[in-house]
Amino acid sequence: MASLKSSICFNSTTAGGAARISSYHRTSGEVHVIVGPMFAGKTTALLRRIKSEGSDGRNVAMIKSSKDTRYAKDSVVTHDGVKFPCWALPNLMSFRQRFGDDAYEKLDVIGIDEAQFFEDLYDFCCTAADLDGKTVIVAGLDGDYLRRSFGSVLDVIPLADTVTKLTARCELCGKKAFFTLRKTEETRTELIGGADVYMPVCRQHYVNGQAVIEATRSVLESRKLKTDTHLEVASVV
Ligand SMILES: [Zn+2]
Repeated sequence: MASLKSSICFNSTTAGGAARISSYHRTSGEVHVIVGPMFAGKTTALLRRIKSEGSDGRNVAMIKSSKDTRYAKDSVVTHDGVKFPCWALPNLMSFRQRFGDDAYEKLDVIGIDEAQFFEDLYDFCCTAADLDGKTVIVAGLDGDYLRRSFGSVLDVIPLADTVTKLTARCELCGKKAFFTLRKTEETRTELIGGADVYMPVCRQHYVNGQAVIEATRSVLESRKLKTDTHLEVASVV
């Protein structure tokens, strides 16, 4: 009886407690993750989902990283040119403030494109889906060009209702492509580019391609070393 009384007091006297209890009655959110290599149609799948939610009468918003300015600053654009308006932001936690509290409250579905660029992806998905009842659809690269986990995309898999790994077509043999091969010598993880820099490849061509790229790099480096040595010798003489 004593415990019942104290719980009634808690409900009726603390505004924070009441707010927290009302959030339990809200429809719970969802997290869906779409991953795959470049050119696998991740953005297309995300846009299709967002558009169909929108035509079902749900309020939708799309976010992309402000780092990615390849096609347009305020639109998500697929590699084949389909466009959708979006918020280009440096991080996800600024979204609610930029979007406005009232508008955020009314929002049902949030799409996040190129999610590997957002460091606060995990915290954002937790808050949006667990506390605010939003459906969050995340699309991004699962791995970088060295097939290492990219950004926080894999961290949100334990939060997800569904995970979809899409495949592309290997540019060299036409089989299913699971990986992204970088065609240039550049070694930064975040090198934003399109078909000029990257190509989707199958496992065999990934392994062969990496071997060719590494061999080329070591030949170039040994040449550079030789040139440097010659220069040093020349300057001594
Ligand atoms: Zn192949």
